[in-house]
Amino acid sequence: MIQTGTKTLPLVNAFTVDVEDYFHVALFERHVAKDRWATMEQRVEKNTDRILAMLGQKGICATFFILGWVAQRFPDLVRRIATQGHEIASHGMQHVRVTQQSPEEFFQDALACKHLLENISGQPVLGYRASTYSIGRDNLWALDALAKAGYGYSSSIYPIRHDLYGWPEAPRFAFHPRHGGTEGDGLLEIPVSTLEWFGHRVPCGGGGYFRLYPLAFSLWALHHLNVKEGKSAVFFLHPWELDPGQPRLKNLPMKVRFRHYLNLEKMEARLERLLASFRWDRMDRVFADRLGVEKKI
Ligand SMILES: [Zn+2]
Repeated sequence: MIQTGTKTLPLVNAFTVDVEDYFHVALFERHVAKDRWATMEQRVEKNTDRILAMLGQKGICATFFILGWVAQRFPDLVRRIATQGHEIASHGMQHVRVTQQSPEEFFQDALACKHLLENISGQPVLGYRASTYSIGRDNLWALDALAKAGYGYSSSIYPIRHDLYGWPEAPRFAFHPRHGGTEGDGLLEIPVSTLEWFGHRVPCGGGGYFRLYPLAFSLWALHHLNVKEGKSAVFFLHPWELDPGQPRLKNLPMKVRFRHYLNLEKMEARLERLLASFRWDRMDRVFADRLGVEKKI
């Protein structure tokens, strides 16, 4: 909570969207080859527009981590996001995990995406989110590459244990991984939200977990973060998570099918509640003090 005169206002949280289509996800990488992406039914523009409409209705600004592949094909979407007051941020060009790139490949990809998004939107691009949260203890060089490419922050480390990603011992809140967590020249990392719960670290910052948990738990967890821990939450979702009508891929393993398609039809109503239940803003404004940028952007 923050004090403003005699009034106490709830903390402001960061709302973020990873702008990619249903076939870009890591879970599908063995099932949809990259050279098929362009032939798939493209639904990202329509789905992102729905999120923009919901945010617009509530007067909420958010941060959009946009995949370069999407920006190249839908530049008007990038411009719409920017002109509606949202922060344009980068999700890399091709949705390749950092763990599958050399430092030079990663640097070139991150730089190309930054330039592409800046050219289309006319906005400086400060934020980067790695594909599949693929920055962790073993590839922190990626943060140096991002700083060299001109980024101001990363939101790419998920401080949990997970089969695809995660650095479970990482700090739960914004920190400088290259400087032992303390302030310094190294890039600021702003992790997606987690909760410490009975000795376990529980992810509560969106994605599949938001679809899996009962809504009441997600709302309680974010409220706990704000009120009990006094911390801003970082929440993320994908446009395809609001799209129960997306083409259903055939021959998927049961685990993949469950994780991707779970509760898609419940998401719009859940998102409405989530947006109405907390205060939200763009990442660069929520963390302006840590980033050393002006609050009024
Ligand atoms: Zn992604």
